[in-house]
Amino acid sequence: MLDGLSVIRNKIGSSSAEEVVASYLDRIEKSDINAFTCVAEDAIDQAKKADSLNIEGPLAGVPIAIKDNISTRGLPTTCSSAILNGYVPPYDAHVIERLRKAGAVIIGKSNMDEFGMGTSTETSTYGPTLNPWDTERVAGGSSGGSAAAVAAGQVPVSLGSDTGGSVRCPAAFCGTVGLKPTYGAVSRYGLVSYANSLEQIGPLANRVEDIATLMDVIGTYDNRDSTCVNHDAGYTDALQDDVEGLKIGVPEEYFGEGIDDNVQKLVWDAIGKFEDMGAEYTKVSMPNTPYALAAYYIIAMSEASSNLARFDGTRYGTRSEGENWHMMASKTRQEKFGAEVKRRILIGTYALSAGYHDKYYLKALKVRTLVKQDFERAFEDVDVLMAPTMPTPAFKIGEKMDDPLSLYLSDVNTVPINLAGVPSISVPCGFSEGLPVGLQVIGKYFDEATILKAANAFEKNTDHHTKLAGEVV
Ligand code: GLN
Repeated sequence: MLDGLSVIRNKIGSSSAEEVVASYLDRIEKSDINAFTCVAEDAIDQAKKADSLNIEGPLAGVPIAIKDNISTRGLPTTCSSAILNGYVPPYDAHVIERLRKAGAVIIGKSNMDEFGMGTSTETSTYGPTLNPWDTERVAGGSSGGSAAAVAAGQVPVSLGSDTGGSVRCPAAFCGTVGLKPTYGAVSRYGLVSYANSLEQIGPLANRVEDIATLMDVIGTYDNRDSTCVNHDAGYTDALQDDVEGLKIGVPEEYFGEGIDDNVQKLVWDAIGKFEDMGAEYTKVSMPNTPYALAAYYIIAMSEASSNLARFDGTRYGTRSEGENWHMMASKTRQEKFGAEVKRRILIGTYALSAGYHDKYYLKALKVRTLVKQDFERAFEDVDVLMAPTMPTPAFKIGEKMDDPLSLYLSDVNTVPINLAGVPSISVPCGFSEGLPVGLQVIGKYFDEATILKAANAFEKNTDHHTKLAGEVV
């Protein structure tokens, strides 16, 4: 069983943060699953500082991996894109400020799909992250490095970001826990935008209680993100494990075509476990679910085409030479963006262009409202919804790279949650042919407390989280 934060804090107490961080650095160095884009040179210095300052609290001296699209002062932030090669942010994201204040050690940046665009970490300019359970398979994405590093015991906790499933997908594929908070619960200040109306920074860990601890630290109000909501959460305080009387809704549309039989069975077994613990379930219908994927991709690509306009060789990272600004910018973008990023900029620009705007972008926004209403209606009668996180376990590296549509289809059960903005957590619920499977527990707006409680109860009554991936050294 991998160590949770409480065990690590004890180790730090009885030895030192320096020693504990050194042992994690050693694991990172020995591994070749390609979970990191860079390791912080000052990790040991940060640990020494935590030791000397004697900071109290659950994260003091604890190493954490940060997805490479979250700005870290003095440490490269490339979004796993060649266009940001060499870019070192002059400031910290809100979540990083909070982590540093809590004494956490930013040990390195984790690999991801380029700008978060993907489901397998295969679009990274650094190459794919390998799944610690089977290194011929993908780690999921886009926060593949964050999940694989946790599953392989290279860090106890990490941060990812979730625009359409990017925390939950790799959490499910790597057998870790991952939370996509309510839109507005965590400040996006310092997160490099892919599709800003959909995304949130979210934590990954081996224990539900560690997810709550991280949320207490990063989920504080910040007026530099105008969509950040000032609310009183108390994630750890809300953490119990009693689900007696909990009302679970099971949306039938999340068990439709393409959802692997083994995955369905494991999720139903998990729901059975909740019944044994005193919860009750009913089937619910969310009829607009089949339209969510198309709406998501139109909205995400439209926002991406606008957000990525700032990468033109002028301000950030590298540039290609050209005889004038126009040639420089277009050569930079042509040579340094990867194929998937270019595809999305082109489709997004098309969806927003005069004559097509109403037909695609506006229509997608209308569908988004319908999807949101599905959730509001379902939550009139139930406390949480449960469904498979991903339709299948981790697939083989290269298996879907030539067919972007089949890759997009893997997001079928995660994107509706981002369209609505509700919170959702993926917890390990078993194994299919040796590969981890994730149960998704979806909650009401700003009701992370209930999904954390449900996930915690499940974890306490099962042993999936005690299993070790083959790559753990
Ligand atoms: N796979 C989805 C996409 O490619 C989600 C990615 C994400 O959440 N960043 O857009």
